[in-house]
Amino acid sequence: MNSLSSPSPDSQPDRITDYSREELAEWATGVGQKPYRSKQLFQWLYLHRADSWEKMNNLSKQFRNLLARDFKIDRIRIVDQKKADDGTIKILQELEDGHRIESVLLKHDDHFTVCISTQVGCAMACKFCLTGGMGLKRNLSSGEIVEQVLNLSSLLPENKEIRNIVYMGMGEPFHNYDNTLKSLNIFLDDHGFNFSSRRITVSTSGIVPGIRKFAWEADKANLAISLNGVTQEARKRLMPVSNRYSLEELLQACREFPKEARKRITFEYILMKGVTDSVVSAKKLVSLLHGIKAKVNLIAYNENPDLEFKSPDEVAVRKFQQYLLDHGLVATLRNSKGQGISAACGQLATRRN
Ligand code: SF4
Repeated sequence: MNSLSSPSPDSQPDRITDYSREELAEWATGVGQKPYRSKQLFQWLYLHRADSWEKMNNLSKQFRNLLARDFKIDRIRIVDQKKADDGTIKILQELEDGHRIESVLLKHDDHFTVCISTQVGCAMACKFCLTGGMGLKRNLSSGEIVEQVLNLSSLLPENKEIRNIVYMGMGEPFHNYDNTLKSLNIFLDDHGFNFSSRRITVSTSGIVPGIRKFAWEADKANLAISLNGVTQEARKRLMPVSNRYSLEELLQACREFPKEARKRITFEYILMKGVTDSVVSAKKLVSLLHGIKAKVNLIAYNENPDLEFKSPDEVAVRKFQQYLLDHGLVATLRNSKGQGISAACGQLATRRN
């Protein structure tokens, strides 16, 4: 069903999570219901996280029949789940067409973060990333993005909630811009998940037109850039996206990114032994980010037998971070959570796709 009104008898029901609240209000009107029904639906779907029409017990039977006729409510299916010693949980989910995607629930001392995917595979082919090696199979719909958070929230310990959502799983979010933005707006809707935009981060490999669009259409959510190279040549070797959008263009888009006073753009920088971890690179990074309200998130590379790169020495990591701090940059070292289950940065990939 692609129209918002009642479908023809032989059309397939749509995934209800693919609909924004406004679209559901339009559908409700089309089937003779009041538009406020969409608020009730959002509450059931995303506040109470109902997974069947029967559970929506303040909706009339007649209305639930209409819903069941026009929509399906079953979520993408969790087919495997792994838990690391640090509490990180990675789930493998199967989509209706048989493709599989991964999402991660990261446990911090007192809260949880979810890392979600936007595509099956990825076309960006970053050299250090397992997902990049899969190639792009297809974009996820907004509902398939949203349902990852529903699935992960079903694994939370009692009375715990998800505090942060990061779009850093499989795929380049700005290659699937419309569905990424639609899912983000569903997370922000105050009748459903009601996430604060400060708690949502979208990470891009450097799609400049996407950054510019995002700046105006989602200016309150956080932006992260996967940088990893401090010269155009170095970045090009690691991230082919630089052939299309140069480092200079990328930094210019970051300089022009409108921000509220408190906000910084996060630059993710993976430290790989002998490739990106020298003090010379740290020095260059400081000068590159001059004039940008930036925060650097350093990530020690997780070795993988399928890729050529090596993890950096601890001393090199500390030296690199100290150099940035000594030169006025906010620089954090991200703990690589979920290493034992291949849930750490750059390690998401499914074999079957
Ligand atoms: S790092 Fe991100 S953008 Fe690059 S290939 Fe992997 S998933 Fe795609």
